[in-house]
Amino acid sequence: MERSVLIVGHRAFCQMTKIYLEPLGDCSVAEAQTAAQATLALQAATPDLMIVQADDLAWAASCLQLRGRSAFQWVYSLLVVTTLEPGGKPEAAPPPAQAGETHPRALKIAAAEHQAKGLELGVDAYLALDTAWQGETLELSPAFQRLLTAQLQLAWTSTQRHRELLTTNDLLSTIALVDPLTELNNRRALDWDLPRQITRARDGDRPLGLMIFDLDFFKKINDTHGHLVGDVSLKLLSARLRHNLRANDTLFRYGGEEFVVLLSDTSPEEANEIAQRLCNMIGHQSFTINDDLELSLTVSVGVSELNDSDDAKGISLLERADYGLRQAKQMGRNRVVTC
Ligand code: GH3
Ligand code: MG
Ligand code: MG
Repeated sequence: MERSVLIVGHRAFCQMTKIYLEPLGDCSVAEAQTAAQATLALQAATPDLMIVQADDLAWAASCLQLRGRSAFQWVYSLLVVTTLEPGGKPEAAPPPAQAGETHPRALKIAAAEHQAKGLELGVDAYLALDTAWQGETLELSPAFQRLLTAQLQLAWTSTQRHRELLTTNDLLSTIALVDPLTELNNRRALDWDLPRQITRARDGDRPLGLMIFDLDFFKKINDTHGHLVGDVSLKLLSARLRHNLRANDTLFRYGGEEFVVLLSDTSPEEANEIAQRLCNMIGHQSFTINDDLELSLTVSVGVSELNDSDDAKGISLLERADYGLRQAKQMGRNRVVTC
């Protein structure tokens, strides 16, 4: 994905910086000449990199104000001091020394103080450049061209690493919450979602139903046909359940051959009806494992409904459904028991 850069400062500063960004690769560049424009640009789209002209540190600080918010904390920010004031009065940024020039001690101290104040704004890097006007444009001597190029390259690499980290994070979150065999939400996802659905139901004074499904005599399928056929059966059953639930029902693989469904906004009567329909839909239509094998599967189902005395994590709600499931097993399987 194309990276985005926000450059804040004098128009000539933005023009010059854009030229040095070009060799780094494809990017979209937004410019802002005032703190208000910088704020608007940040709010419109979060950039990967923000480059702020910082001759006047108070002005730079106002441009960076939004960066304190969590949404912007990963924006790589680079302060660049030039010999040109951006919007307001320059805060006596000392000019960098010319080659061969001895830096007077006082100037060195002033430069260090300016850099320290800049970095104290919480930016990632600070760079002092010796710029010179060539007509309407700003120019850099070869040494400062090299310095700006190197600093932008570092910033670029850092934004790239951050993007890779985000992608890895997304992947890890998915892996952590998805069951690899059935691609359903896993038990960890249920532990995370159930308390949230309970809070939402209570806040909105809406009903919440829960069902536990357990395949009947599944061990026999493994013992008779092998574990691979058992795996295919679990996948087919998961797909059938998924395709027959409503959009706002959430399906989880709870354990081996057990599944949980959270039925948001569903009354006890509706939950029982849905469980009965699913139980019939599984038992009445066989599953095609391969060209030579059709299997008939049945499930037992326990159903419960959130009540006022249930705990916020959903443990008692789950326990009631599990009790219903055990009753359904005892009563002969292939049936629904609501508790
Ligand atoms: P019941 O009707 O009482 O539920 O009988 P059951 O045989 O289904 O129950 P039991 O708990 O005795 O056996 C469950 C079986 O599910 C045992 C286990 O090997 C199998 N199983 C669990 N997870 C998987 C899986 O991912 N793949 C396969 N193939 N089998 C699994
Ligand atoms: Mg079981
Ligand atoms: Mg079972």
